Amino acid sequence: MLKPNIPFYDIGQSYRELKPEIDQAISKVLSKGWYILGEEVMAFEQEFASYVGTRNCVGVSNGLDALFLTLKAWGIGAGDEVIVPSNTYIATWLAVSYSGAIPVPVEPDINTFNLDPLLLEASITPRTKAIIPVHLYGMPADMSIIMETAAKHKLKVLEDAAQAHGAEYNGRKCGCLGDAAAFSFYPGKNLGAFGDGGAVTTDDDDLAAKIRSLANYGSRQKYYNEFKGYNCRLDELQAAILRVKLPHLDEHNLSRHNIATAYLGLSNAQISMPYQQLSHKDELHYTMPVSGAMAKPCWHQFIIRNDKRDKLQAILKQAGINTMIHYPIPPHQQQAYQEFSHHSYPIAESIAQTCLSLPMNPYLSADEIAYISRVLEQS
Ligand SMILES: *Cc1c(COP(=O)(O)O)cnc(C)c1O
Repeated sequence: MLKPNIPFYDIGQSYRELKPEIDQAISKVLSKGWYILGEEVMAFEQEFASYVGTRNCVGVSNGLDALFLTLKAWGIGAGDEVIVPSNTYIATWLAVSYSGAIPVPVEPDINTFNLDPLLLEASITPRTKAIIPVHLYGMPADMSIIMETAAKHKLKVLEDAAQAHGAEYNGRKCGCLGDAAAFSFYPGKNLGAFGDGGAVTTDDDDLAAKIRSLANYGSRQKYYNEFKGYNCRLDELQAAILRVKLPHLDEHNLSRHNIATAYLGLSNAQISMPYQQLSHKDELHYTMPVSGAMAKPCWHQFIIRNDKRDKLQAILKQAGINTMIHYPIPPHQQQAYQEFSHHSYPIAESIAQTCLSLPMNPYLSADEIAYISRVLEQS
């Protein structure tokens, strides 16, 4: 048998799958000659709000801006503190820094990769204004305790749902659980555009109106500027593409769920069980991801942890299986956050050193999944 070469995720496949519909949507926008703030963005906002289950959706330029604009609209800035996970993608931290506030990292629960709500209280000070839980890898964060703690201290909760399109917590979609949520439509996300894009979802009409204005030069009415705003708009082409892809999100997430079930079956684990340890013929062993209580993940990534991660990655590569590391360096160890260089967040550091992302995308074939499983069981 020819050695397979299984890509981590060939994003071009999502174009090839829906090519006729996407080509038609693109040419419709181009022919119409209206490229910014038009019918496609408006229609997508309504469709995505209804998918997520919020009163409002505001399309914006990307996920980082969705986070930043929401903090800004809440008036959060210099002198304020915002709680963020120590192990998130750096964009969560950058949004806080960009607003002028200080990110205050809280360690994750090693079992779910998500912000440990029991550590929240100790990090809240009189300057704390908001908490940004991240539904990392598509695993919903433990929102009920987070919301309770936030209510007790009168803090805003901004979900970072950039990896959580379609994930559910207690029967409700991520994105409708906090005071507001930020989505990214970066091409590799579960719902991805063919360029940059993002959105804020919220039930708060005033907040939505303020973000809409801030994203468009601080203007509600053309040439009248109430705020010193920004240019952070979603464009018509990306909105038209997202409108073609949104109706396929659930079926794509179902494919991801089936792949996750196959991977979890390697250790005979149930999705709802705590971490499973797996012993191997050689000394390699790895732990499986687990979703928390009430959580239905959308499996943006499937992360295993392994003490000899680099060795396992090399073995898989040798077998033609391409994996990735999300993420090799936690934000506090980045050069960009030198001010944190004397801080230590051991759980975030341990995840960064041991995590490995297995191929996870709706286009993996049954043969490929079976092959990956076979190789992993023999590693
Ligand atoms: C992708 C991502 C972002 C940023 O989204 P962009 O559209 O790339 O700006 C923010 N937070 C998390 C957790 C992400 O994965």
